[in-house]
Amino acid sequence: STIAEWKRSDEYHNSFLIPEDKVLAGVRKNNVDKGLPDIAVSVAQGKLLHLYARSIGAKRVLEVGTLGGYSTIWLARGLPADGKLISLELSSHHAEVARENVHTAGLSDKVEIIVGSATESLKSLATTFDLVFIDADKVENVIYYNEAKRLVRKGGVIIIDNVVWGASVAFPEFSDPAIEGIRSLLKAMKDDPDVDATTIATVGERGLDGFIYAVRN
Ligand code: SAM
Repeated sequence: STIAEWKRSDEYHNSFLIPEDKVLAGVRKNNVDKGLPDIAVSVAQGKLLHLYARSIGAKRVLEVGTLGGYSTIWLARGLPADGKLISLELSSHHAEVARENVHTAGLSDKVEIIVGSATESLKSLATTFDLVFIDADKVENVIYYNEAKRLVRKGGVIIIDNVVWGASVAFPEFSDPAIEGIRSLLKAMKDDPDVDATTIATVGERGLDGFIYAVRN
């Protein structure tokens, strides 16, 4: 199959399960208009993140890698009235667009975006989270993973995006800093007694990629 076919398949399923959403469509358009790269999670993945947050009754969510706040909004919508989401973003331009989008979505009260290197911002966090979503630069994945383990409650969830990378991670003939960052993450997670985890590869409008879903022991 081709990306065009996977995209069509995603759209077919979405047409049954995910109603058209003017706010989120507007967010995607605003991200393009403001020059952000088109690398947010897909519609179906955004909904899945939302459902994960709801499934565990998450009240506090931490996100690493905000971009324009598309996944942020999906996750924040899964929170109760007193819920809170903190999202970490390196680019002040991305953060500014994200704040605008979060405001449009009526979620400014629940969402805080911290600008700076995620590694630095993570060090300053001490409160506990129910769910951590890691989706920033892949090179520092191991640092983000270790910080997520420190910050997530027992039974809480750590989700890491882009761990399949078109299957290239599994083939030693491919190597670049991102691929090596993902491999280092897998090595760090191997036999780690702190988590129980699986990789789920997906195809869709974003091509072949996947999430790691980990529960904190
Ligand atoms: N989660 C977003 C979504 O689905 O809508 C997409 C995030 S995008 C794939 C990755 C983001 O991580 C970019 O906005 C990028 O600027 C940010 N980023 C890259 N390196 C970073 C770092 N060292 N610290 C914090 N954010 C970083």
